[in-house]
Amino acid sequence: MSEDETLFERIIAGEIPADVVYQDDTTFAFRDIRPQARVHVLVVPRKRYRNVAELAAADPRLLGDVVATARKVAELEGILESGYRLVFNTDRDAGQTVFHVHAHVLGGEPLGLFGA
Ligand code: C5P
Repeated sequence: MSEDETLFERIIAGEIPADVVYQDDTTFAFRDIRPQARVHVLVVPRKRYRNVAELAAADPRLLGDVVATARKVAELEGILESGYRLVFNTDRDAGQTVFHVHAHVLGGEPLGLFGA
């Protein structure tokens, strides 16, 4: 298992410091260290799956928990009304770098269109 594969597990365990925004029994949310927007929070299920495709196939209820926590984060960050973007980078062509599924919650300002 590479360092990347264990990184978020170590953050969840408190072994690596993080700016934690919210946590509950199944999910954990913390600020991205390289924010791409005024609000940029990562939502991670405590149980590790490689990406959202694996999570959706194995445990759709847990995927629902991740999406519900993203909404909670938006509420806590005050961007529920202004809106937010939820991104799951999935494998090579999407540029996924940490192989513990995570949702990026982005907002707090108008976001540009994304593409290549
Ligand atoms: O979707 P992707 O795998 O590319 O995103 C990984 C994200 O994890 C990056 O946005 C990166 O800035 C973030 N990260 C972090 N804290 C770390 C390592 C990576 O917030 N210690």
